[in-house]
Amino acid sequence: MQFETREPLDILREVFGHAEFRGLQGEVVSLVTNGGDAVVLFPTGAGKSICYQAPALCRPGVAIVVSPLIALMRDQVEALRQAGVAAAAYNSALSPDESRRVREQLLAGDLKLLYVAPERLSTPGFQAMLHQVTISLFAIDEAHCVSQWGHDFRPEYRELSSIAVNFPGVPRIALTATADPTTRADIIERLALGEARVFLTSFDRPNISYSIARRDKPREQLLDFLKKHKDASGIIYCLSRKKVEAIAEWLSEQGIRALPYHAGMDPSIRSRNQDAFLTEDGLCLVATVAFGMGIDKPDVRYVAHLDMPASVEAYYQETGRAGRDGLPSDAWMSYGMSDVVQRRRMIDEGNAPDAIKRIEHAKLNALLGICETTNCRRKEILAHFGEAYPGNCGNCDTCLAPVETWDGSDAAIKAMSAIYRTGQRFGAGHVIDVLTGKGSERAERLGHDKLGVFGVGKDIEPRIWQSVFRQLVASGFIYVDQEAHGALKLAEEARPVLRGEQKVTLRREQPPIRTKKETRSAKAAEMPEEAQPLFQQLRAARARIAKAQGVPPYVVFHDTTLRAMAEARPQALEAMSGITGVGKAKLERYGALFLEVIQAAS
Ligand code: ZN
Repeated sequence: MQFETREPLDILREVFGHAEFRGLQGEVVSLVTNGGDAVVLFPTGAGKSICYQAPALCRPGVAIVVSPLIALMRDQVEALRQAGVAAAAYNSALSPDESRRVREQLLAGDLKLLYVAPERLSTPGFQAMLHQVTISLFAIDEAHCVSQWGHDFRPEYRELSSIAVNFPGVPRIALTATADPTTRADIIERLALGEARVFLTSFDRPNISYSIARRDKPREQLLDFLKKHKDASGIIYCLSRKKVEAIAEWLSEQGIRALPYHAGMDPSIRSRNQDAFLTEDGLCLVATVAFGMGIDKPDVRYVAHLDMPASVEAYYQETGRAGRDGLPSDAWMSYGMSDVVQRRRMIDEGNAPDAIKRIEHAKLNALLGICETTNCRRKEILAHFGEAYPGNCGNCDTCLAPVETWDGSDAAIKAMSAIYRTGQRFGAGHVIDVLTGKGSERAERLGHDKLGVFGVGKDIEPRIWQSVFRQLVASGFIYVDQEAHGALKLAEEARPVLRGEQKVTLRREQPPIRTKKETRSAKAAEMPEEAQPLFQQLRAARARIAKAQGVPPYVVFHDTTLRAMAEARPQALEAMSGITGVGKAKLERYGALFLEVIQAAS
């Protein structure tokens, strides 16, 4: 297909099947098409790829797209080919024959987009080849990989600053969904994009509903959560490989289709499990954080965390893998005091220099604050990224079931006094025994049963004391000292509280398991009932096509497209072309087939 000197909007309609650009897309596309540089900071699901794909099809020559992961390249190339675009990937997964073919296509000017790994781009041989062809633009995807501050640092990305010097005049566009201001500034500096226009949209993911539960009976809580997501695809994150295995096995015993994924597995099984997750509907993948980057699956309906992530950035990124298609999705986490202890230990036992460790502790504290907040979670998450959210979102657990608070000043003083009187040498378990006056051999041996604080907290259940300690840690009044084997110690911030000068407001614990109210997101998820059977038939047709071609179903059509078909029931190809996501090539390829399914159902 010949696309040169086309208008971006025509390309969008013909190739991608969308009627209009969304948000800032149109402005980015116009700038880059006219030769400008851009830094694009859009959240997941906001349509970043269009920002370089449309200009690539409007400008003469081939676009070079730098991408960190082979899986990501494969999916993008496949999706472009399905839309009738000449695209290829050039990476270490190709055989020598395949590599040669890609080089020939490149030199012959037959490609519009070429995806390459960063290390490939910096080789002199490849650069020499690029100097023989017309390059329309350079796109640097997942640009946060250039920053040590971000969580996916890749040293090869540092070499990319040389593009500006070696290919002057070729527009460059850097894209990322990572939001924190420090990483942003780092990207602009490291990639020498100081002159580029920065496009920043809200990082809100309105279709994701956030909830964070106190861990009580983790497996029951998880099952309760999964009930809502029968037959949907989702990811469950665990911290350790061992736990991944155990949870996947246990879920299977409960009749839920679940597969494990972690870096310690046999690579062939691991990649089989990943493929199953990508190509089948309704599979639950239990994984460590080794899974996820570069996964473009649009219809992940939920992300659950059974352990606390390392930072707000990590939480945002991992939960962000849900709902790329814009349909309602759930992010759910269960956490407890042990997560804090474990995370602190991981930081302290790591090899990072002290300055980095301090940053990591601060990042963990920020996430703890979000776990314990009594405010709207979305508001808090966005505030962390420097974004003000007006009002409350109505789509997170604290909005849907407002948290009750109580004046915990007295309890805080008792808790901190008990920590102090027992010598700041013990974890929460023993201090709570002392507070509640639970006589033990240990308390007697240490003489703690003779202390004035022994039994002063009898009126509060141990379960509530756990919550008090967790909240005091989260608020920074007390801290866990790893070097002293996880002993609780008083922080400087404890002073005004102990002197009675500062009040402490605590959240009241909700009963651990309750039937969730009908949420706004669940309501939005509803498709008209009469459209449901047809939607399922269309999905089945899509699954057959995808299987025959060996590609993930969503590269054929997204759920959103099938849903629109099921609701609009187009009766002719022309009407079908008006459905979002149906471009010219896909209409020619699949239009008749899906039309048949719709007509058979009428
Ligand atoms: Zn909210």
